[in-house]
Amino acid sequence: MSRIKILDESTINKIAAGEIIERPASVVKELVENSIDAGATSITIEIKGYGKDYIRVTDNGVGIESDDLEIAFMRHTTSKISKIEDLEKIKSLGFRGEALASISAVSQLKVITKTDNNLIGNQIVLHGGRVISRKEVGCPKGTTVIVTNLFYNTPVRAKFLKSESKETLKINDIIYKLALSNPNISFKYIKDNKVIFRTRGNGNDEDVIYNLFGRNFLSSLIRINYKDNNFLMKGFISEPSFTRGNRSHQYFFVNNRYIKSNLLSKTIESAYGTLLPSSRFPVIILYLFVPPYEIDVNIHPTKTEVRFKNEKEICSTIYDTVKKLLKKEDIIPQMNITN
Ligand code: ADP
Ligand code: MG
Repeated sequence: MSRIKILDESTINKIAAGEIIERPASVVKELVENSIDAGATSITIEIKGYGKDYIRVTDNGVGIESDDLEIAFMRHTTSKISKIEDLEKIKSLGFRGEALASISAVSQLKVITKTDNNLIGNQIVLHGGRVISRKEVGCPKGTTVIVTNLFYNTPVRAKFLKSESKETLKINDIIYKLALSNPNISFKYIKDNKVIFRTRGNGNDEDVIYNLFGRNFLSSLIRINYKDNNFLMKGFISEPSFTRGNRSHQYFFVNNRYIKSNLLSKTIESAYGTLLPSSRFPVIILYLFVPPYEIDVNIHPTKTEVRFKNEKEICSTIYDTVKKLLKKEDIIPQMNITN
């Protein structure tokens, strides 16, 4: 007798959701990334409590075609790639076609959306991945996704969530990263009916940093700029006197995608050398641009890791640039003293 069973779709989706939808912050990340991929210039994120009860993301992007609405919630359905070769030149943040299927599998979700092609918008409601209702509604072009009762049908997952303040920190962190990586998108973040921040979307990275972290923070940063044939690096590092007790304010973006990189952190910290007090960490907000074929983004499901094909070269360029910059900064106070 056979003991091996093929799992049904709903069970598969719940298992997959466990991988990419770990917590409310992951929902925020996936939804906002979809809005960015949809070409939105304005994105509003609204959270109530710590996101378990209510998350809303509204964008003014291209919207979802009426005919695609149910398909978008199936697993491995994406409008962003159609074959494996497409991964070589991927520009979008998403491509796995798993987020909507996963989020809807473990929540009660409503989508309201309209494209330029559709005269009227559509609203669809799913509970635990099952379509509950669908109807036409009047709405502007773009998409609103409202996720409520996250993990209502996976109590074990719900139990593993950390405290409200920790989950909120994770949500804030992801929203900061998304806003920092997209200075030309206007973000509005509302939490418990209060506007936490709003960015202007005018493309100015200094404006975004000011909106997020304030004037003092911005004025303690040194601008970094480097360009050669295949590599562009810009952003900010902090003056050696402006440090943090951990790496929470180190942000790396590769082709506008946020990445985690111990290697890049350590490279820059080692360029500070003895300028850095022990157990202190510089602020880093660094935007790297490399040709898509120079990186591999497909190594982790949450895609926060990137492998550079010429890692050594990139690191030594970063090290040298930071070293030079800090040397220059060093000279200025000395000149002031002799004057
Ligand atoms: P992926 O982003 O990997 O393609 P998702 O499950 O996140 O997969 O989304 C599935 C599809 O639904 C996307 O490829 C896209 O076509 C559509 N979609 C999702 N969110 C939006 C949005 N905010 N605006 C327009 N289209 C969207
Ligand atoms: Mg997506």
